Amino acid sequence: MDGSPIALVNARLSGVEQAPAPLGTYIIARHFILLEAEREEFGARVPVSLVAPPILQLPDEPPGFEWKVPPPSIEMLTYQVLPFFVCASQQESGEHIEALANLVWSGSTWSTHFPQQLAGLASVQTSEPLPAGAVVQLHSHARMKPFWSRTDNADEQGFLVYGVVGCIGTTAPRLLLRVGINGHWLPLRWNDVFRP
Ligand SMILES: [Zn+2]
Repeated sequence: MDGSPIALVNARLSGVEQAPAPLGTYIIARHFILLEAEREEFGARVPVSLVAPPILQLPDEPPGFEWKVPPPSIEMLTYQVLPFFVCASQQESGEHIEALANLVWSGSTWSTHFPQQLAGLASVQTSEPLPAGAVVQLHSHARMKPFWSRTDNADEQGFLVYGVVGCIGTTAPRLLLRVGINGHWLPLRWNDVFRP
């Protein structure tokens, strides 16, 4: 055998530089164990568990999220995704149904993608695989408040930016965002994700 085997999942102490592993790196830091991963479009470090009591000999390493490509514009959300969610929430039947949208990075530009979807009052599903370059996955809760439901947590196990929009059809629609790595998430602000 020549060379050492590639570690799929790696671990390191905070403050130590180490090459990224394909399935992510666990970082043992003062207050948290974090999971760090990188893809072409962004890198993220999400908290996995608290270290209590803290390991005072280790430096802190904060959770974080950084784009490696230009972020999508907020206009994509307000003029393309929101209208789709509004239409879905205003069915002729009077039902307020959920909906699903992806933001896709082509390597040079962003576009929206609305997969074939089977939506109901409290769920939305697609059998379409995620398109190549899908980075941000958004769904609506129609008129309900945005929150991460048990179904959302079960569905959002990938390495993506996730968003849920709620209170649609009111004067103040609301958006929650998070970045996920294998079922661990870090909440994000809208301006962490979108370019104003
Ligand atoms: Zn949801």
